[in-house]
Amino acid sequence: MTRSEPAGRVRPAPVPQDAAGIVDLLTPARGVTAVDPVDALVEQIIAEEYDELRQAFAEGAEFAVTHMETPSERMLHRLECASLEPHLDLRARWSAGHRRRLHDDRTYRLPLPALVTRESARGLSGVRSCKVCWPNVHGTEARPLRKLQARGIRSHHIGHVLSTDDGLSLGTIVRSAQQTEADLFGERREVVEIVTTARTMQYSPSDHVFIWDLPTDEEAIRRKTQLFERFGPGFAPTF
Ligand SMILES: [Zn+2]
Repeated sequence: MTRSEPAGRVRPAPVPQDAAGIVDLLTPARGVTAVDPVDALVEQIIAEEYDELRQAFAEGAEFAVTHMETPSERMLHRLECASLEPHLDLRARWSAGHRRRLHDDRTYRLPLPALVTRESARGLSGVRSCKVCWPNVHGTEARPLRKLQARGIRSHHIGHVLSTDDGLSLGTIVRSAQQTEADLFGERREVVEIVTTARTMQYSPSDHVFIWDLPTDEEAIRRKTQLFERFGPGFAPTF
């Protein structure tokens, strides 16, 4: 991508079309079990969309903009965002209803998220940031935090980052346990012990604690791997 190009969508290279192949599929021979022409067209569209996404991925896209066609609804996501998944599941999104619309109008298409590089994402104006994946392309967005009582820390919080109320990391939660301890005066009291990768902390069960309200590193890595397997070089199509 050169500097003179406007920020925005990564332009995919033209996808070579096998026009003859499409015509054959859409005009089944007499007496032969016909491939449904709409199904055949859907397959063709999916293949084109797949090529477009794969091309953008190869050009270094790290973010995606959904609802690009409606400026007021544009939203920026990290590519591995869970809420982006239904948009990238190219076959599943062609529901029976969408197929019917395609039947009535062969030019009907479902909007595809625009995959963009970090540089392009920084140049976008008037785009909202997703609350699930916190794209933070400018490095200035406040990290989403979730506030809960110390007694509310459960096993499903393991892997999440415990933080101060202003978002400073106290380490990734490794385990937590509520236990009864004797204080200096021999009084027994309930204590919640939270062990992170950085330290061990003790809280009263009703103390407020904060965690980063974001997917765990493990989850993000799993999704990135999945994306790479789907759109990365050297992988067979898995749409
Ligand atoms: Zn998102």
